[in-house]
Amino acid sequence: MAHNGGDDDSEAGILYVVATPIGNLEDASDRARSTLASVALIAAEDTRHTRGLLAKWGIDTPLVSLHEHNEEGRIPGLLARLRAGDDLALVSDAGTPLLADPGYRLVRAVTAADLPVRPVPGPCALIAALSVAGLATDRFLFAGFLPARTAARKAALAELRTLPATLAFYEAPHRVGAVLRDAAEVLGGEREAWLGRELTKRFETHHRGSLAELAEQVRTGLAVERGEFVLLIAGADGEVERTAVEAEALLDALLEELPASRAAKVAARVLGRPRQELYRLAMQRAAADR
Ligand code: SAM
Repeated sequence: MAHNGGDDDSEAGILYVVATPIGNLEDASDRARSTLASVALIAAEDTRHTRGLLAKWGIDTPLVSLHEHNEEGRIPGLLARLRAGDDLALVSDAGTPLLADPGYRLVRAVTAADLPVRPVPGPCALIAALSVAGLATDRFLFAGFLPARTAARKAALAELRTLPATLAFYEAPHRVGAVLRDAAEVLGGEREAWLGRELTKRFETHHRGSLAELAEQVRTGLAVERGEFVLLIAGADGEVERTAVEAEALLDALLEELPASRAAKVAARVLGRPRQELYRLAMQRAAADR
């Protein structure tokens, strides 16, 4: 039983959270492979998928499934194995477990039980995307998959609108076009964005442009029906967004008392901005309120 110490129970085994390739098998680290070869049991999101991967490396460690629907039920047995001194590994189908993948509940249970857990870091589509997109990486927010329904998706995007941090999403191919359209509408079409497809794989492509440009490219034929995608969107420009939020708040208050044309006139005077612009915004706010 290998042991790094540091946690309470020195006889216990270790849970290794192991990153696997997101496309290119050569991205698996030596440590990932040797860990998967040496543990007593691997908890895998899809055992058939992982068995295929392990076969390529000549590894025949036993597997047990651990996915969204059985994770809770698996926990007591896996904790018992760790307490008995067995080292275990957790993997997902691709990339880093827990990142839009199962494992969070298991890792929480292991740490709550004061049992040791160690990362074996490696591929992750989110980090791969951030490393090549050329958008700010000092602050980013990973929002996983956006909701499938338009209204919920727009509401989720609206919550992120004023955030001065790069926004990162995973997306299914059949939704990429709709997400770009909604993001352009809610966040503003001029926001810089980056769409990465099939990272580390043979047909890897990167597309860069404003949200409006990317939405238009998809509308006019950019092929996005297949493959795996990461979408990154530049964070809000704090000053611009603050001004927009202030204008909206002022208009909303004025619209409670005044018709749109008068509300726009007062807001234009207070904010020192063109009356037409505020009238357009007032009409949008009034329509959204109905
Ligand atoms: N845990 C994984 C990771 O570390 O990246 C992500 C798992 S999540 C269920 C799968 C999603 O990740 C895909 O739908 C896609 O949005 C993104 N993804 C995974 N591999 C990718 C790749 N090679 N290129 C682009 N996106 C990828």
